[in-house]
Amino acid sequence: MFCIGIYSSLKKTGELNLYSSLQEEKLNIKPGSNGTNSVKLGKCHLILAQKKIKNKQMKSLFNYIKEVIYAFVSLAKGLLLTLRYFITIKKVNITEEYPNNRTTTISVKERFYGEVVLPHNENNEHKCTACTLCQMACPNNSIQIISKQIETEDGKKKRVLDKWVYHLDSCTFCYQCIDACPQDAIEMKNSFELSVYDRTKLIYQLNRPGSKLKEKPTVKEQQS
Ligand code: SF4
Ligand code: SF4
Repeated sequence: MFCIGIYSSLKKTGELNLYSSLQEEKLNIKPGSNGTNSVKLGKCHLILAQKKIKNKQMKSLFNYIKEVIYAFVSLAKGLLLTLRYFITIKKVNITEEYPNNRTTTISVKERFYGEVVLPHNENNEHKCTACTLCQMACPNNSIQIISKQIETEDGKKKRVLDKWVYHLDSCTFCYQCIDACPQDAIEMKNSFELSVYDRTKLIYQLNRPGSKLKEKPTVKEQQS
């Protein structure tokens, strides 16, 4: 492992090529071929170059050992942290086991904007008068108020809500519809599990089947 490290570090700096060429040069030096002095000078240069390379090799080796030690220290630090959490797992709640904790530990802030809803009471009544103010306030046509005419018991014609259609796929949760509603008929709910695979499933009818407008109490009823 150490040899591979040294080899790669030498290869990176180009020193290996230099070392090889010097070795070749050493082999080509033959006494008497170019004169004794030139041979001695060549040998001297070779020794100096080899010493220089050895120093660099030692430096590379030292750096490599340092990096290996550092890697082991980092590994030990990570393992110690894991061990610490493993020992204290019962004392500290680290991971939320979703969706098993859906009704226990999970909590979504009240202020989170998840979807617009039309609340109904226990008598299946809502407060929407189909005035379409929310539809007009919506900046991206995410609301469709469809109304219908009905005849009341006393023979009067009255416009009531037929369908309150909400396009969650285009809603930006800007809250403008809720601010615009004069009846406080709609609210923002903090639900978050609304993901679907088919975008067309994000179009809801908010008024429940068979629901009706909650009648306002008369003055007499209010006084009594
Ligand atoms: S929250 Fe905004 S974008 Fe969504 S339905 Fe209401 S007005 Fe439209
Ligand atoms: S939700 Fe409010 S603003 Fe929208 S149609 Fe009903 S009463 Fe009007």
